Amino acid sequence: MRIERIRLAPYACPLPTPWPSAEGPVAVREGVILTLEEEGGRVGLGESAPFPGFGLETIASSVAALRLAARYLIGMPRDRYLAAVSDLHRLAPVMASPSARHAIDLALHDLLAQDRHVSMARVLGGDRALDEVPINAALPRLPRRELALAAATAVAEGYRTLKIKVGGVSTAEDVDRVRAVRDQVGADVRLRLDANRSWSETDSVEALQALDGVGLEYCEEPVADLETMARVRAATPVRLAADESLTDLDSARRVLDEGAADVLVLKPMALGGLRPAGAIASLAREHGVEVVVTTMLESPVGRRGALHLAASLGFTRYAHGLAVGCAPWPAAPHARPLARPGSGRVLRLGDEEDLGTDFRIWQGAQSDFEENLLEEEEEKA
Ligand SMILES: [Mg+2]
Repeated sequence: MRIERIRLAPYACPLPTPWPSAEGPVAVREGVILTLEEEGGRVGLGESAPFPGFGLETIASSVAALRLAARYLIGMPRDRYLAAVSDLHRLAPVMASPSARHAIDLALHDLLAQDRHVSMARVLGGDRALDEVPINAALPRLPRRELALAAATAVAEGYRTLKIKVGGVSTAEDVDRVRAVRDQVGADVRLRLDANRSWSETDSVEALQALDGVGLEYCEEPVADLETMARVRAATPVRLAADESLTDLDSARRVLDEGAADVLVLKPMALGGLRPAGAIASLAREHGVEVVVTTMLESPVGRRGALHLAASLGFTRYAHGLAVGCAPWPAAPHARPLARPGSGRVLRLGDEEDLGTDFRIWQGAQSDFEENLLEEEEEKA
């Protein structure tokens, strides 16, 4: 069996609430779905969706990279998939495009899993892989009252872990907002913060010292550089998590060597795929550091990959950030999170396997954009 056809279908999907990024609010999520089709019709799905604030990629640069990579993928036999996945970071057209590498890595893992009749989580993690993983709710930057209300709604929906976006207001206001959430949800719900690098060193120390006693799991990326983050970590009682600082295995080594974080947040889309993200998870574990898997608000295709990566890690101490994303097509109802007494909201593997009739209708409707990349490349040659 060989890869016979490659297709790209772009999407632009308004988000229900603009989302804070290190480069300002994001109101529309854009990306492209990659389909690798084998002889015989089996398809593997991947996604490339660069997010502002993570690297220098754009949709255009990632699509250009995927077009160039098509020549390498077309005709690839099935027994090359595994080697191809481990060599992707060396493949020239996608070297500078982690999101494009992610698309190929994910689609190849999808095909490998189907070939072996196991889940992608099993391909990645073997027997350690879980069947379901706990997930957290993510609350955007909202004023105090609305935020407390959103927190109450999430808890009523069964979430036991909430992540609160902070920054963009005075630290006193942030402290007040976080306290309001704690008062609203009580002591049993886990809270974590994400500042997306919007605090100064002084802000971070002030806010996190003031929040000592509120009971926080950790705070993601309070500041913009590792040295400062290590100083903030030493000066405050709250654990810190690295997120934007992680771009590859070397950057993960730097975070660990600097002592800048207690937790690593792994976004397969930013890290070039499931395999490189898994390698960072292994490194973190060697250092006794926990990891959390999150998406970058991509479509159900990318979120499915992140779910399988999270499940492949086995039991971890923290809920994963897989609840939020965009919906270019109506998502299948059975792919929604389930509420479990005790562990809160979970996503089950397998429930998302059938991405739904709606996905196929949507993909079919993209025919105006759908590209047979090989033909186009040959026309050019
Ligand atoms: Mg973050």
